[in-house]
Amino acid sequence: MQHLYIHVPFCVRRCSYCDFSIAVRKRVPVQEYVDAVLTEAAALPEGDFQTVYFGGGTPSLLPPDAIERLLRELLPRATHDALRTIEVTLEANPEDVTPDHAKAWRASGINRVSLGAQSFDDTVLKWMHRSHDAAQTQRAVAALRNAGIDNISLDLIFGLPEELHRNWERDLDLAHALRTTHLSLYGLTVEPRTPLDRWISRGATQRPDEERYAGEYLLAHERLSVFGYRFYEVSNASLPGFRSRHNSAYWSGEPYVGLGPAAHSFDGTTRRWNLRAWEAYRRAIAAGRSPIESEERLTDEQSALERIYLGLRTAEGVAVAALRRPSPPPYLAAQGWVELRDGRLKCTPEGWLRLDSLVSELTMQTEIRS
Ligand code: SF4
Repeated sequence: MQHLYIHVPFCVRRCSYCDFSIAVRKRVPVQEYVDAVLTEAAALPEGDFQTVYFGGGTPSLLPPDAIERLLRELLPRATHDALRTIEVTLEANPEDVTPDHAKAWRASGINRVSLGAQSFDDTVLKWMHRSHDAAQTQRAVAALRNAGIDNISLDLIFGLPEELHRNWERDLDLAHALRTTHLSLYGLTVEPRTPLDRWISRGATQRPDEERYAGEYLLAHERLSVFGYRFYEVSNASLPGFRSRHNSAYWSGEPYVGLGPAAHSFDGTTRRWNLRAWEAYRRAIAAGRSPIESEERLTDEQSALERIYLGLRTAEGVAVAALRRPSPPPYLAAQGWVELRDGRLKCTPEGWLRLDSLVSELTMQTEIRS
């Protein structure tokens, strides 16, 4: 049993902070895209999937019948009943969630939707170049529930530049008011060659502030735990029983298959990734060539390091026996960055804020800056 990721690279415009591999299109080349993905899939050995995840890009730009065709052909053995036990997630932008789309998605087997809400402040959404407003997010959640999709996640971005006067606590409260089952919180990062990077270079906006980032991250832990959410990974919190099964598979090192441009696959030892650009991917498939750009076989050393890194991202942490050191340096716990319980080392929210340094400390014995 594996996990299937399908990358849909199309977006109507580029958000100000985004450096993902996307293709900006007013009109999505639906037929070409679906045919290309199904051609790539034909080379895979037959198998059943526990989870399917349409990520992007903006998968909700695909018409519902294209999503239905992909699911039908990629899961040929899944009966309607079997589809209930598979987690099938669609990433969607709020403006694409109409009552008709939501009903069609549900009928095709989608049972979880991850909405790119980002904020409930319309000024902030405009600054981000998002094409929805806060009211559309609220309507989208209602439309999904009316269609029978109750497992809904919201993405929110924190750590925005001060001059936006974004009220993070208000956004958390509005997210809580919608009572979605899952929340993913991402700190804003400035990636090279994005509009945000250019605005900062010419002094039109400020670089996000580290203190604000840390303060908002810790505030989210505080508020969301009061509301009944539990952080089960550094960026993800859910109500009990609603963790993302698909993303949890990545963090526990399970095999997965990726289809579409820029998609990654992992068989337990080797990671492969496809050509990033839609055009390059499309041309490779049309010419009968493999769309794989490259691959790396993990050494035992790399696998061990990756297990530690992925484990520390999660609430379960890592077994102390798996670490390089016989016991973690006591000052990590004294600073309140880790907890040692039942033979496992787990990050606290403060620890998650310095996850990379912690992993270095535990594996390469470098110094951590507080
Ligand atoms: S919708 Fe998502 S993938 Fe598309 S440009 Fe915005 S952030 Fe990037």
